[in-house]
Amino acid sequence: MTERRAYAVHEAGHAVVAQALGRTVCAVWIAVECARGGAEIHTEGIALADGAAICWAGQEATDLLNVESPSRLAKGDWERFIGLTSRMDAKEQERLRQDARARARELLRENIKLLKALADALERDGAIDHVTFRRIVDNCAHP
Ligand SMILES: [Zn+2]
Repeated sequence: MTERRAYAVHEAGHAVVAQALGRTVCAVWIAVECARGGAEIHTEGIALADGAAICWAGQEATDLLNVESPSRLAKGDWERFIGLTSRMDAKEQERLRQDARARARELLRENIKLLKALADALERDGAIDHVTFRRIVDNCAHP
């Protein structure tokens, strides 16, 4: 299993859960050479539970597809989650984390075809813009 695959599945996971929650996915990209990747998602006014589910979706995606994930991939998501929940106590934070992970996993399972198609495209091309993302979503919905 290559590191490139892990990055592709991880970032595809964020995008798929964002899409499933009705958010606009602007772009998704990976840059394995500099250990970076990202999913640009329109998150204005997003509910905390949705934001947390998107946050954990990268890690859930690699778990779901049994892709070994370098630990640094999840590090940024941990930091983001801590930022989102900085006003909560540890117990509340942990409850939200468990709920968010379960929700992300459920949405990924429901959209596993899209997850795989998107991960394949990212692994191949390295970046997906909004128009290409929409086309992949449509192809998966109406094959
Ligand atoms: Zn991530």
